[in-house]
Amino acid sequence: MHFAEFFKFCQKLLFFLPLTAANNPETTTTAHRAGSFTYDNPAEWQLEYPQCGGQKQSPIAINSNKIVNVDIPAIVFGSYDVFLSNYVVLENNGHTIKFNVPPTIEHQIPYITNGPLKDIYEAVEVHFHWGSPLTKGSEHQLNGKRYDVEMHIVHKNSKYNTVEEAREFEDGLSVIGAFFKVEKTIANIFFPGPSTVFNTVPFVLRYNSTASTRQLITLGSLLANINRENFYTYQGSLTTPPCSEAVTWIVYPDVIPISVYNLKNFWFVRDEEGRKLLNNYRPLQPIGDRKVYYRSDMVVVDYYY
Ligand SMILES: [Zn+2]
Repeated sequence: MHFAEFFKFCQKLLFFLPLTAANNPETTTTAHRAGSFTYDNPAEWQLEYPQCGGQKQSPIAINSNKIVNVDIPAIVFGSYDVFLSNYVVLENNGHTIKFNVPPTIEHQIPYITNGPLKDIYEAVEVHFHWGSPLTKGSEHQLNGKRYDVEMHIVHKNSKYNTVEEAREFEDGLSVIGAFFKVEKTIANIFFPGPSTVFNTVPFVLRYNSTASTRQLITLGSLLANINRENFYTYQGSLTTPPCSEAVTWIVYPDVIPISVYNLKNFWFVRDEEGRKLLNNYRPLQPIGDRKVYYRSDMVVVDYYY
């Protein structure tokens, strides 16, 4: 479909969907389910999920003046640049737009290892956090700056069987965080991985809806122009309940450009109750006595300890 035609189609879709959601008794049910949470009151998550009140929570503000430079190896990306075997299926779970990572055409699960990681961590899921027409929605802040969108690629330590099991352990999970920023001046420069995923968002605006991408992607293509050699890393938590303190975070300082059209699609996503799902990012958490490390292929100033 031609882009202009596609965009018109999306606009029609966006107009239509809120009405159907409002008329659908399923989407207007407001009963509070066990295990549910909203971004209306993240400070109260800890009442139902005690770990959300812990000392190693995420996200945090990363300040490049307060980091510790470390001389550690680069992260190895296994099967990250091999096509995934199926079109990925986006899903609206009421909190985010996500997809589970299928195996590659070579029947491997993409993984990361080395860098700060002592084991092999298999990619499990990709999802996004965003803001609103008035606010930016990245979870982490970098030097006081919040970006438009933050993508999380969730990995599970392969020595554990499930994410539920892995999140009970400090070394259970590793999440890659990557920032997206609207670039108005380069409207025609798009990276194929993120574009393929973002162009599917208009088809999953309703809670519980799913839609398949139209093109095959590699997991690595989602990291677009990012220099994978340079990253911040720290020990933290899941940024949604149960907030398990099981995550080795890898956050890239490089930022991926997206079009304003791609960004706007997120603002029409609806939650379980048919409300607009906006600002699905958790407020910043105290760093406490944790250190944030920076690994660079350029300069090593401090020593590793
Ligand atoms: Zn996330």
